[in-house]
Amino acid sequence: SADRKPPMRTPAGPIWNASTVAEATGGNWMVPPRPDWTATGLCIHAPTRKPGHMVTMRVGNSGRGVPPSVIAGMKPPPAAIITDAPQAPVPDNVPVLSVKDTGAAILALGRYARQCMNGKLLAITGSAGKTTTVAMLAHALSPYGSVAQTAHNANLPHGVAWNLASIPADTDHVVLELAVGRMGQSARMAEADVAIFTNIAPAHLSETTTPRDIAVTKSAIFQGMSPGGVAVLNRDMQEWDVVHAAAQARDLKIVHYGTSADCAYRLIDYDAQNGSVDACIEGRMVRFALGAAGEHMARNSLAIIAAVAALGYPLEAALDQLASFSPLPGRGAEHRLTISGRTIHLIDDAYNANPASMRAAFANLGKRTGEGRRIAFLGEMAELGAQARSFHTDLAPLIAANGIDRVHVLGALYEDFWGALPEALKGSHATTLEEMRQAFLDEVRDGDIVLIKGSNSTKLHTLAAAMADMR
Ligand code: ATP
Ligand code: MG
Repeated sequence: SADRKPPMRTPAGPIWNASTVAEATGGNWMVPPRPDWTATGLCIHAPTRKPGHMVTMRVGNSGRGVPPSVIAGMKPPPAAIITDAPQAPVPDNVPVLSVKDTGAAILALGRYARQCMNGKLLAITGSAGKTTTVAMLAHALSPYGSVAQTAHNANLPHGVAWNLASIPADTDHVVLELAVGRMGQSARMAEADVAIFTNIAPAHLSETTTPRDIAVTKSAIFQGMSPGGVAVLNRDMQEWDVVHAAAQARDLKIVHYGTSADCAYRLIDYDAQNGSVDACIEGRMVRFALGAAGEHMARNSLAIIAAVAALGYPLEAALDQLASFSPLPGRGAEHRLTISGRTIHLIDDAYNANPASMRAAFANLGKRTGEGRRIAFLGEMAELGAQARSFHTDLAPLIAANGIDRVHVLGALYEDFWGALPEALKGSHATTLEEMRQAFLDEVRDGDIVLIKGSNSTKLHTLAAAMADMR
């Protein structure tokens, strides 16, 4: 946008010294640091804190101040404390910066850090596959220079700021996941050079959200992008027209991926047996190997290729990288494991589930051929609002349609699903995780290909984790 400030000069060392921290936040040093003091970043979640990270402490008018004993017990010791405590006590052996509001200070540090970066920022949103696509893109970009990516799943504004404030300013590529919550705020801070929009599907719904609402809200990812920035859009997604219009309104260069003929990055065929993708890329037929299984991963890979091309890089190195990309734990990671003498092939997708990723997982499971049966153990999909039950029921016909041999489900939302499922495919309908664990042990045979999938809250990962012990 016109009011965008020119980027600051990228510092060679850490961004944060006594004057930049004060300038960014508008705060005052109550306990000033030594002249040569620097910090490497910020941490807003204690267990992940590294040496060199500053820490925010919100105490308000409690009169508690920042008790020195609390600071003394922190390991590693914080590089500085940023606090809204209006008065002492404060420790005297750690720098202390006083600010009006710690939340605002976090955002301000993120914004300032972004202004110091000269590398490219690539932002990803969508209903399913954001974290996966971030990881795939970071992997594909690694031959072209240094890469930093969203850490700790922090995809809301304060988390985005936390990430930005902790990434070295001379990083060549920064890949961020942006979630729908207060998207505009995240997007204006991120000032993406390239934005990828993966899909629109029911996920994280309140009682009233429609796919169109999701499209409109997520399209705020384009705010903060400058004209000439690149929007990489899934041409096949629901509500594509809404997203397209939003990108067009900001004068972005729009690039499409998907299966239709007008896509510059077009998926022609995904071969599940060989894990290879046939694609038409900028008019040229290309075949490449993809380390992550499933047509949804093939689609993601085309978004990645489009993004790498948007940066002006030759594509060969990225195409080579895709062969060695593995799905993340709980998001499709695969394992061979032996349970009481039975060796099975496990697809661990227990971290997350919504209708779109369920469909993708069924299609992936169904395409696997081998001697063994294809079995699904499914937990409930969370955050689907008033129609949650029917979203579950809608999955029933897909079991047979994808050639899945048997299914076990956990939870009351599967009641109508269970009624609609052909008898021959019924494993069990469990009401407790323990029942499902038992069903698992009773069911699996040598050679089976087993999918475990549900929302994180269903704790199906404990099923996978228990088996992981036997790996
Ligand atoms: P969250 O909203 O929880 O942050 P996310 O958008 O980051 O989720 P991931 O955690 O990457 O998504 O993946 C969630 C599930 O979606 C996984 O099962 C993953 O395999 C699947 N998935 C990945 N890409 C796609 C896609 N393009 N379409 C549908 N499902 C996908
Ligand atoms: Mg995520």
